[in-house]
Amino acid sequence: MDSVPFFPANRAAPAPLYPWPDNQKSALFLAVDVDAESAWTAKDPKNYERLVTMSYGGYEARVGVPKMLQLFRDLELKATFFITGWAVEAHPAMAEAILRDGHEIGHHGFAHLLPDPGDPMILDEMDRGLDALKRRLGVVPVGYRAPLGESCEQLRVLLKERGFVYSSSWRDDVRPYRQILASGASGVIELPASMSFDDWMFGLTHRFSPRPMFPREHVLSIWNDELEETREWGGLITTILHPQVSGRPIRFKILREFLHTALDYRDVWITTGEKIARHFAECEAGDPTMPPV
Ligand SMILES: [Zn+2]
Repeated sequence: MDSVPFFPANRAAPAPLYPWPDNQKSALFLAVDVDAESAWTAKDPKNYERLVTMSYGGYEARVGVPKMLQLFRDLELKATFFITGWAVEAHPAMAEAILRDGHEIGHHGFAHLLPDPGDPMILDEMDRGLDALKRRLGVVPVGYRAPLGESCEQLRVLLKERGFVYSSSWRDDVRPYRQILASGASGVIELPASMSFDDWMFGLTHRFSPRPMFPREHVLSIWNDELEETREWGGLITTILHPQVSGRPIRFKILREFLHTALDYRDVWITTGEKIARHFAECEAGDPTMPPV
């Protein structure tokens, strides 16, 4: 414990209270993590030979992603899809369909490996992921979400160096803020997330990821209450949806109902991470109290 510094790990100031555009009261960052089979091979590459385990991830390209794309088309919503490089290489048609529908493509590692501090794979995961998105889709992503919900100083310095605009990984606020690196320099914009909107917690169970399943009433109670109160606070809701979860019939129905509830407010800005981050950057540029980036 003596090696733990007497500073908060995150030294960024509290999030500034910038208004949302067009008199919107709050924002909903509609974010989907397309791990596909790499969610399972990241745990153990040998899982590639465990075909039923692979089939959990394989559901995304076969059913989950097409269903979610259809839903977003029907509701006229644009989302951000954080895709692993492996998923782009293995399922190019799926990735192209996402792009064709006009959604944002974000970086989600290559093999969905945990970016643990000091891990030599961090650089490789970053650059192989960038290469797959560029080569297969012609995309240079501006947004990043850390696989398995972890990050470290080396990675956030790398995000800045590689020209990312935002990350969506931290759990410590209800509004966007600017990361401050350990050196004191400005980092990328953070669009914080909450476990309340990680569908994996409620809707997927497997012997390598054992969890109870939650019915519609429970999930909608959590999601709608979070939305209602976050809207009152003028905050940001960030989803962590997985097509191998929310693309399943019962989960899909829950997601559709939740999005209808959000749309019915008519003052919740449902959009991509890039739009939210660009709006933050515009507000920041006009704010004399903010340090230059
Ligand atoms: Zn993931």
